[in-house]
Amino acid sequence: MNVARQIEQYLPRQLMELVKDISGQAAKQGQRVYLVGGIVRDLLLGYPNFDLDLVVEGDAVKLAQQVAEVSQAKLLAHHRFGTAKLKYENFTLDLATARKETYARPGVLPAVTPGTLKNDLIRRDFTINAMAISVAANDYGELVDPYSGISDLEHRLIRILHTESFRDDATRILRGVRYEQRFGFEFETQTAQLLKRDIHLLDTISGDRIRHELELILKEKQPELVIKRLGELGVLTRISSSLKGDGWLAKKFNKARRLKKPTQLSSLYFCLLVYSLGEKEIEQFLARLNISVKLSRAMRDTLSLKTGLPLLDKPSLRPSEIYYLLRQYETLAIQANAIASDSSVVNHNLRLFLTKLRYVRTSLDGEELKKLGISPGPEMGKVLQILHKAKLDGEVRTKGDEKRLALSLWMKLEW
Ligand code: ATP
Ligand code: MG
Repeated sequence: MNVARQIEQYLPRQLMELVKDISGQAAKQGQRVYLVGGIVRDLLLGYPNFDLDLVVEGDAVKLAQQVAEVSQAKLLAHHRFGTAKLKYENFTLDLATARKETYARPGVLPAVTPGTLKNDLIRRDFTINAMAISVAANDYGELVDPYSGISDLEHRLIRILHTESFRDDATRILRGVRYEQRFGFEFETQTAQLLKRDIHLLDTISGDRIRHELELILKEKQPELVIKRLGELGVLTRISSSLKGDGWLAKKFNKARRLKKPTQLSSLYFCLLVYSLGEKEIEQFLARLNISVKLSRAMRDTLSLKTGLPLLDKPSLRPSEIYYLLRQYETLAIQANAIASDSSVVNHNLRLFLTKLRYVRTSLDGEELKKLGISPGPEMGKVLQILHKAKLDGEVRTKGDEKRLALSLWMKLEW
């Protein structure tokens, strides 16, 4: 099967010219270059994707170095992994040396040696991700599909390449569910059985790798579908015993998407994901997934603010009271609670803090207080604090108001 037509239809011409150049240089040394993995799958599905992964039968790093020398591309090489990135003005290309992998036991990373394209494809997760397209001049666009990925694409199936696949790397369970839900596919029968058989091997996977897969899931358009399915399959409880992927989460994820800028969305999802965990469970979760200090703080804050929400469930709170109740919490934790809480009063108060109160500053600073004759020291600190409170509560508005209040406070304090 030749897919040159699909390449022309879906990929920018400029990008493919670069790929052809690289392939041409490789050919001079008897090396071959292929498009592989996600780009091939998405091309065949007709989905937009400009993340091009190239596999080189030969030496990817050396090839990338040569390409960088004669072009405008910036080179980032990882000799140890046999991979290189070429950064052009508008595109980035990932090159990898075709590799052969052998797994000593479940959970550990494989031993890697250079190999053929076929070796490189058999080490992959699913048949739909184990296809390649030649970009060589003599057979440009020719599909290499040794494991019938195209047939599985047509039948909308997620299928592993051999019965030991999940044992070799149980993160593939998480990846499989991600693709299943992204594309609306199903696990092929035997793959589903093996997934059940091998689910316990998730315990052998390091926290960093589980977290990485969870981060990828949270980058999906609708991660709640993946989380729900992971719940049904018994994967979630394997990661943390009380995690749930129920309708509540779906509703809240939807709400989060409507509110958040995409950059921090996945941290917000993390906070919502753990919303029903207890004190002990959250600590286990943070440790198991080796969550960063910063995100851990936001997740712990989310739960401690959750227990404090009744204090915010009063319509008569003054703005300064809201401010003092919330100022010690991470912004992310406040956002998560604003999404999670179903009380409109709580919501109003949290939003008031997020949109206004946290930005309130006095017009006067220490320097200006000095000019008014107020000397630096603890008293000045006190004056500034009262000014800030008055500003929050709308008792002072203009700089003149602040000056008058500052001077009258100072007189009282001096006595
Ligand atoms: P996505 O659209 O999610 O980026 P992708 O197919 O590009 O999909 P990547 O995570 O970028 O996925 O990985 C690139 C390729 O590497 C995959 O297509 C797959 O063939 C292979 N791969 C990635 N992770 C694994 C794994 N754990 N086991 C086997 N193969 C993997
Ligand atoms: Mg990719």
